[in-house]
Amino acid sequence: MLGMAYYPEQWKENPSLEEITQDLRRFVDHGIELVRVGEFMWDQLEPEEHTYSFKTLDALFLACERLGVQVILGTPSANPPIWMARKYGAALFQKDDQGHTHPFGSRRHYCYNSQVYHAYVSEVVRQLAVRYGAHNHLYAWQIDNEFGCEGTTLCYCEQCDRSFQAYLEHMYGTIDKLNQAWGTAFWAQTYTKFDQIETPKRTRALPNPHQLLDFYRFATHSIHRFSKIQTDIIRSHSRSPITHNFMVNFTEIDYARHHDLYDFVSYDNYMPQSQFDPMIWAFNLDLMWSLKKKPFTVMEQQPGRVNWQQRNLYFPAQWIVPAAVHAYAHGAENVVFFRDRALGIGAEQYHNGLLNYFNDTRHSPRVRLLNQIKSYAQAIPHKGRAKIGIVFDYEAAWMHQINHACKDFSYVRALTDIYAALRRKGKEVEFVFSTDEIESYDLLILPYLMHIPDQITQRVEGFEGRLLVTCMTGIKNNHSHIITERPLGWRSDKLHFDIMDFGAALPSVMEIGGNLIQADYWVEELGIHTGIVSGRWNQGILEGAPAIVESEDHRILYVSGVPDRAGWGVVLEQWLGWSNEPAKSLVDIVRFEDQQWIFHFGDKHQTLEELPLPPFSVMKVDQLRKEP
Ligand SMILES: [Zn+2]
Repeated sequence: MLGMAYYPEQWKENPSLEEITQDLRRFVDHGIELVRVGEFMWDQLEPEEHTYSFKTLDALFLACERLGVQVILGTPSANPPIWMARKYGAALFQKDDQGHTHPFGSRRHYCYNSQVYHAYVSEVVRQLAVRYGAHNHLYAWQIDNEFGCEGTTLCYCEQCDRSFQAYLEHMYGTIDKLNQAWGTAFWAQTYTKFDQIETPKRTRALPNPHQLLDFYRFATHSIHRFSKIQTDIIRSHSRSPITHNFMVNFTEIDYARHHDLYDFVSYDNYMPQSQFDPMIWAFNLDLMWSLKKKPFTVMEQQPGRVNWQQRNLYFPAQWIVPAAVHAYAHGAENVVFFRDRALGIGAEQYHNGLLNYFNDTRHSPRVRLLNQIKSYAQAIPHKGRAKIGIVFDYEAAWMHQINHACKDFSYVRALTDIYAALRRKGKEVEFVFSTDEIESYDLLILPYLMHIPDQITQRVEGFEGRLLVTCMTGIKNNHSHIITERPLGWRSDKLHFDIMDFGAALPSVMEIGGNLIQADYWVEELGIHTGIVSGRWNQGILEGAPAIVESEDHRILYVSGVPDRAGWGVVLEQWLGWSNEPAKSLVDIVRFEDQQWIFHFGDKHQTLEELPLPPFSVMKVDQLRKEP
């Protein structure tokens, strides 16, 4: 389905059924079938304590029923109303790592562990679930909005201190075990009781990395528990599925664990940087699909200009066609635009909507493009399973973020480069999480996986496909200690080497099969026992030393640095004989069994293998590449 976020309460006080119906009909005429409502209207749902008003939502549901539109109803817990803020203040709101309370006046300032807040959230969610839970036009529930957005994953308040202590006591049982796990013998940090422990506030020198790792785990646990309070209430009153909207390039919450709470995954599809890179979108869309290996919903589709970047770039209306259809090609079953109209008021006043500020479809070319998007969406085949799996691990992302020999290394960016190189080979890719089976893959990639989850270690032992492993993999245990029980390095029958030493590196060059490739961030000094050298450092501090090693049967390849996107293309070609397929900038080609879909996000005419690509276009071709 094609949908949009719809907030009539923001442009009209107490909008009537007729006003909503008339307004909404204009969108329905252009192809909208689904609206997402309600996640920021607690002030109107409960204007005074225990006094509820459902006038707007009642009218909205009735209008949707009349027009045949489905509804995704958000719970309003991302923003408590002012009376609650003034009544409870510090008992409600998050504190930052310097002890400052997040103030009222924006959004997402509540603490996930506030008992007071749990009680109010439970009641408002119960009211909604009882009233709308069985409505025949309720398509799904959305819990809250974008957990963790705007730096709200971690809270350092006194309630979180106590919850963190209880969490740790449950996890470790004894304080000795915690001291061991946190390496507290270093810098005289030994604890004697759990109630001495605090959330890791800002310190003058580097904080304890093992404590921080557990704090990240605790944050996911807290958010999961906060959301489960709501899903439990909803499920006792409603059979409609439940979801929560995940974010782009976001690794602060372990989505691989958290998504279990929901019936389907949803995701907010925005470009996180000014320079548009289709591979960032493709990577994140495939990551979201991979969480359940099932279709997902794009809960917020970028409609053009946003409001939260340094430069909120202008986008011509036509850009939304490849932008939205691209998500369907990567496994979305619904795409919901954010939002119905551009709004003159509020912090998001610079955000495009489907309607322009003037609120007239004749002045709003985006609305008139919706039916075009819908017809493409109906023609796109379903996404299937891929034969290439990239292991993605949120805890590995945390280890990279918390403490690193190379602080400007980015886990997500480095994985995106490997992903993009594979897509350039014409390969579709999916992501693998620690609980997933791996035997169906022809190629499994363990990239920058500082700690290899136990389940993956066990499964890799019997894995018969090709294995690509990168530097930094397996150097830590699950507490983020660097391993000391044996030499670092890969140990198997066919490939066995020690990592004698490692360190951050300046941009350098590797040579593989006579080709020079760029590599950056990291180097390792390898002592090889079994295996062959297939690439060497061509420049830099380790010039002439082995950089890439593989097993004699060529099944396992290890790359001891961080090649760039083009460099990975060369590595894959040398190792597997995969040559690059035709490509152009600002283009993504998605391959299905018997057809290919080309998405062109650029504003200039291009040609691809003599095929003209108009600006901002979507094209289906049966076979782009001639058989040799
Ligand atoms: Zn807190």
